[in-house]
Amino acid sequence: MKDQIFEQCHRHFNDIVAIRRDIHQYPELGFDVHRTAGIAADALQALEIPVKTGIGRTGVVGDLEVPGATKRIALRADMDALPIQELTDVPYKSKIDGKAHLCGHDAHTAMLIGTARILSEFRSSLKTHVRFIFQPSEEALPGGAPAMIADGALEDVDEIYGIHVFPLYTVGEYATCSGPMLAQSDTFQITLTGTGGHAAFPHLTVDPIVISAQFVTALQSIIARNVNPLDSAVVSVTQFHGGDANLQNGLTGAALNVIPPKVLIGGTVRTLQKAVQTRVRGQLERLLAGLADAHNATYTFDYQEGYPVTYNHEPCVSTAVSTARGLVGENNLIFPVLPILGGEDFGYYSQKIPACFVMVGAGNEEKGIVNMCHHPQFDIDETCMIYGMALLTNLAML
Ligand SMILES: [Zn+2]
Ligand SMILES: [Zn+2]
Repeated sequence: MKDQIFEQCHRHFNDIVAIRRDIHQYPELGFDVHRTAGIAADALQALEIPVKTGIGRTGVVGDLEVPGATKRIALRADMDALPIQELTDVPYKSKIDGKAHLCGHDAHTAMLIGTARILSEFRSSLKTHVRFIFQPSEEALPGGAPAMIADGALEDVDEIYGIHVFPLYTVGEYATCSGPMLAQSDTFQITLTGTGGHAAFPHLTVDPIVISAQFVTALQSIIARNVNPLDSAVVSVTQFHGGDANLQNGLTGAALNVIPPKVLIGGTVRTLQKAVQTRVRGQLERLLAGLADAHNATYTFDYQEGYPVTYNHEPCVSTAVSTARGLVGENNLIFPVLPILGGEDFGYYSQKIPACFVMVGAGNEEKGIVNMCHHPQFDIDETCMIYGMALLTNLAML
């Protein structure tokens, strides 16, 4: 079976590379993935797989029905690109300024099309129905997955699998784990308001910079003293703005003798468990409220929940692990891989039905393909698509 699957993957490889490169050159963002969705829908229709379009606004769902089957598994690909300028010089570089497939979703779409082609050829030996899910807007909140689910993408589905190309692992490797694999990724925005004034008369002001600085320092204690050392969490402040400087000019022309009236602070919280998220969120606001109160300042605290944890369930993990092991052997399977504190909207599916997410090695040091997803010079060793297709195909053939 393994040899047969790899043989089919190799046979389709050049076509799938061409599809990936075509999508790569015309990246689309968020829900605006009409061209890419069209390619997916046309590919399924050509295989006589019934297709629904406009699911989750611009998603595509195809159902490969197998006579007599009682179980249905879903395979999911995301289709959207990122609002980043690509800085590679590959011949298939993005033709659209400021947009690029730097997370590999072009490859995910192409691999799922390839998988559909191979499974169609194996149709007579399939034992389960297979649903192909091509979703928009993985990169941008609120995510395409909730919209797909609301439109019925998971109806009658027993299990769902997703893959992601990952250049930090080498082509030919797979990585996954049980339980939480990717983080709940939230953001927060804070306005801390004091009273501005003359910098030489601080006693007549409520200085929001000093209070904000204390807050940023104090919140480090949340991870150190409020989260169990054996649990994982990140709190990062990524924005800290006060004063009147125009950031493009540095501090040239800025009023260095004025205490500003307010400071804006923003950042992200990453957790792997709901209880930890609740605790971190609560403690963030308690620290802020306490410091603001102690110094006579006021604040606003806006906490935005992002994608939920991507959770890998049994029996899907065992199925994925034994399938991956069968394809590449124990030495090329990274299991259990440590969870990653990045976010993925596959998490929404995993909150609904048994699911497993697998990283597919896409790096190749000899070819210089080492840049992580979202890097302006991100690329994949396209050979990884053989392994992506092989895994998805094999999962659907069990
Ligand atoms: Zn991404
Ligand atoms: Zn991605």
